[in-house]
Amino acid sequence: MDNKKIVIANWKMKLSLAETSDLAKEMKNKFKGFGGEAAICPNSVSLVGVGKILKGGPVKLGAQNVFWEDKGAYTGEISPSMLVEAGCEYVIVGHSERRKYLLENYSMIHKELKAVLNIEGLTPIVCIGEDTVERKTDRRDFVLVNQLQEALGGINLMGDQQVIIAYEPIWAIGSGTAIEPTEAEYAHKIIKIALNDMFGMRVVKNNFRVIYGGSISSKNVKEFSGLEGVDGLLVGGASLDAEEFYKIAKAILK
Ligand code: PEP
Repeated sequence: MDNKKIVIANWKMKLSLAETSDLAKEMKNKFKGFGGEAAICPNSVSLVGVGKILKGGPVKLGAQNVFWEDKGAYTGEISPSMLVEAGCEYVIVGHSERRKYLLENYSMIHKELKAVLNIEGLTPIVCIGEDTVERKTDRRDFVLVNQLQEALGGINLMGDQQVIIAYEPIWAIGSGTAIEPTEAEYAHKIIKIALNDMFGMRVVKNNFRVIYGGSISSKNVKEFSGLEGVDGLLVGGASLDAEEFYKIAKAILK
């Protein structure tokens, strides 16, 4: 794979069920003839319904979370195979909001990733990124490498199994201020070097994409579209408007 770019919408818990299905229908229409790879991640209650809406269209379905077991007494959790049954092709693993509010850590993220890779047809989007203090104390590179090692250590990828790493500096998420593009390029380089060390260059080229997330909008996206090593975007707030998300998606393809 020659690092095909992808744009992924994370709708978090921001829309009602009715709003979710309306926006999914709008996205399906808007992206007709898009030509790139795009996915939306609605709330879990809407997955089955949105899966039906998106079926056969240009936008794929993703989930915002997954559990590491496939069946059993795990109240409130959703397994990788259930996500596939619902029509999901992607799943976000270890988003920083889950790390913050639900105390998800990288040992849990590692188990979730393994479970996802055990199921055919589901691509994990593994979130990493430094917080404000780590950034201020110049520990970003160390933090990123550590998170990658904890999440991916000991994992073997089969054939063309895909993994997406989302670099999401926590301080940039929802802040309205994205990272400086040159800084993003540097962080993505660090991530690719760490992945090369762990998996080898051939596997990284064929099986991994590294995307950026944090306050991307149609206004700043152009600064990110030409960056080396930025294979796509994870978009929160700006993905809640179909026209805005489409503009972002078109711009990153260039
Ligand atoms: C996110 O939370 O994954 C994200 C990228 O959010 P935003 O675009 O709103 O910063």
